Amino acid sequence: MDIEALFRQAADEAARFRNSVSDRLHRPGEDYAAALHAFEEPLPETISEPRAVIEALVARADPGLNLMTGPRFFGWVIGGSHPVGVAADMLTSAWGQNAGNHSAAPAASAAEAISARWLLELLDLPRESSVGFVTGATVANFTCLAAARGEVLRNKGWDVDAQGLFGAPPITVLIGDDAHTTVFSALQFLGLGRDRVIRIATDGEGRIRPDAFVAGLATIDGPAIAILQAGQINTGAFDDFAELIPAAKARGAWVHVDGAFGLWARACPDKRPLAAAVDLADSWATDGHKWLQTPYDCGYAIVRDELAHRRAMTIAASYLPLAQAGERDPSHYVPELSRRARGFATWAMIKYLGRSGIAELVERNCHAAGEIARMLAARKGIRVLNRVQLNQAIVQFGDGLGPDAQDRMTQDVIALLQKEGQVFVGGAEWRGRQVMRISVSNYQTDEDQAEQAAEAILGAYARVSSGMA
Ligand SMILES: *Cc1c(COP(=O)(O)O)cnc(C)c1O
Repeated sequence: MDIEALFRQAADEAARFRNSVSDRLHRPGEDYAAALHAFEEPLPETISEPRAVIEALVARADPGLNLMTGPRFFGWVIGGSHPVGVAADMLTSAWGQNAGNHSAAPAASAAEAISARWLLELLDLPRESSVGFVTGATVANFTCLAAARGEVLRNKGWDVDAQGLFGAPPITVLIGDDAHTTVFSALQFLGLGRDRVIRIATDGEGRIRPDAFVAGLATIDGPAIAILQAGQINTGAFDDFAELIPAAKARGAWVHVDGAFGLWARACPDKRPLAAAVDLADSWATDGHKWLQTPYDCGYAIVRDELAHRRAMTIAASYLPLAQAGERDPSHYVPELSRRARGFATWAMIKYLGRSGIAELVERNCHAAGEIARMLAARKGIRVLNRVQLNQAIVQFGDGLGPDAQDRMTQDVIALLQKEGQVFVGGAEWRGRQVMRISVSNYQTDEDQAEQAAEAILGAYARVSSGMA
């Protein structure tokens, strides 16, 4: 097999896709049904020519690719899969390291170990913390909460890792009403229950109300976990860590923070005050594939008490060499044994951007979100519902109309924009009303892109409100 020609073909196609940004719309060219049709064929019976396989893959996939890496893709907090990270990831695939074990995969394990140290410095979290490299914040929340579950029960003399939850002292879980849905999933996977929680009331920005939190803490009678948030998915708001964390700790609760994107405010001097005192918590979940721009998938489970982290996750077997002092097995901090060497792309992105590059990126994205919000709010009939302090804006159209008409108009503007493809925005329900969500988290998004995006949104609104769309 001509490996060089095959890899060159893949690299050429990858570059062609990434260079087509200005010619492509910010939406898939074809929908799911068309994509299914493109891939549909009977099970292949015989071996094929390698380059023909890649050629067929590109031909079938390309029309159904979304421009999620584009500079005006604001649908979700999705990052940009930066070319430097992608190049490192191509090598990661080619190198084919099973990154579970330090002696079997020394380079992969070392890249994680050093990246872990860099991450703690960038986010300014306790340097003794351990970091698990997982698929994303969903599994990072799961991993951190598994450590929390184990530790709060161990403190009551119960070994949940060996004995499970049957017969264990009940754990009180406090969580904000506007927490991300994946945190509830993590609680579900851990046997802690999605609904068996005390939901704490939040304010207009989705922040936990301190008075309600204190009332929730007063009900604690045994092991407890409190879950806070850095960066609400709609408003970008932060819980008041300086007030809430010490209060929870005083009641003996483990404090976990979901900071999938918001924790990166810590890496940006101007935004850092938003996440002040978050380092007082016990564990933190965050993503690499959002603001750090690593390719999919990459998230980090960070736990202050390394032993609690390892107890919850360690996989041991007689055929696996044991890590000694000074060595680190990637598999000790994550649910999986065999896994991708995510440390390479993380290392490459931090090496490339450096501390100042990451700070500049976060700052620039936040500025872009603010500019879009400012331009939209200046138009009569458009209302920005949140305080745009980070990278998130939620917007309502048809101000002055009745609630139903406003909801319809907001949905119509979103639908028209998604059809036109100049900018990708999503919708959500916020406080019972339909809103447009704008999430800025791409390395290419600057003030110029923000202006183009705002013009496109204003244009769509004008067409919808004049009945032309
Ligand atoms: C994106 C996100 C998650 C889930 O992260 P994944 O990377 O999708 O697993 C959790 N919490 C918040 C606040 C998020 O923005």
